[in-house]
Amino acid sequence: MARIGDLLTATRTVSFEFFPPSTIEGAVQLNSTLNELAALRPDFLSVTYGAGGSSRERTLDTVLAIARERQTTVMAHLTCIGHTVAQVDAMLDIYATNGVANILALAGDAPDAETSATGHFHYASDLVRHLRRDGRFSIGVAAHPEGHPRSRCVRTDRRLLAAKLQDADFALTQFFFDPADYFSMVEDLGKLGCTKPIIPGVIPILNAGQVKKFATMAGATIPPSIIKRIAAVQDDPVAVRSVGTEIAGQLCRDLLDGGAPGLHIYTLNQAVATLAVFDQVVTRAAL
Ligand SMILES: Cc1cc2nc3c(=O)[nH]c(=O)nc-3n(C[C@H](O)[C@H](O)[C@H](O)COP(=O)(O)OP(=O)(O)OC[C@H]3O[C@@H](n4cnc5c(N)ncnc54)[C@H](O)[C@@H]3O)c2cc1C
Repeated sequence: MARIGDLLTATRTVSFEFFPPSTIEGAVQLNSTLNELAALRPDFLSVTYGAGGSSRERTLDTVLAIARERQTTVMAHLTCIGHTVAQVDAMLDIYATNGVANILALAGDAPDAETSATGHFHYASDLVRHLRRDGRFSIGVAAHPEGHPRSRCVRTDRRLLAAKLQDADFALTQFFFDPADYFSMVEDLGKLGCTKPIIPGVIPILNAGQVKKFATMAGATIPPSIIKRIAAVQDDPVAVRSVGTEIAGQLCRDLLDGGAPGLHIYTLNQAVATLAVFDQVVTRAAL
């Protein structure tokens, strides 16, 4: 299985993010989404991890099934808050034994004060250092173009991100809607001497209410022009999806035109919007 750090030295990457299903229906849905998205020949797929270990088994099962059954590189998300070194190492051993060579090293959000007080790791950078010493994985980290929601100062957040990236291979961003937020983060990192690839994360708007909720959780601003376009069609779900896809497609084009090293799509385990973005707006030729 390819190491994503190596892929990024050779090509722009296309990647898709999934969450581990918790029901049989969800597993069937994910399988069919993976089948449909295979046509886009993604460079890698990533699977989220429930903070504090809440989805440990489901994430492991989903990552290992992809590694076993599909011809695509996979990356396991791993949040470290509330985990001991032994718990992390046990998962790393399972991944390495099964040929999974890529980890997205995250802090995660502790579900409660008790979880944040326990465990060995406090910040994602603690896990990045642990993974670097381990040596078996290509290491990705999270980046927040508008600053992490808990950061009071974007400059400090950038400095901490540049430090975190020193031992990592690349970053994936939180989703955002204004390409200027992404490019100013890349520029800020460059001024701090950090030139590691930062892959932008894009979420196609499928449902107005859902995206507002996610944006609030992720600290992402939805520009007034986008709110207006979605509001104009909000009573027509098909039109919302179509406008949402157009917005995501334009964002992808702007990001590629500006030199982004790839595109990472938050699929929410649905194929339809991702297919529409790639089929209608972004051609593989553009990558
Ligand atoms: C691409 C992507 C994928 C994600 N996948 C998941 C997932 O699968 N599961 C999940 O639960 N969550 C996921 N998240 C959310 C993420 O876990 C949260 O945003 C979490 O709050 C922070 O994680 P982090 O890895 O960015 O943390 P960190 O890099 O540790 O940063 C967290 C905060 O601490 C600050 N900080 C960092 N280092 C220091 C330091 N040394 N001293 C003081 N302050 C510091 C940062 O500025 C920031 O405000 C994802 C986010 C992104 C962008």
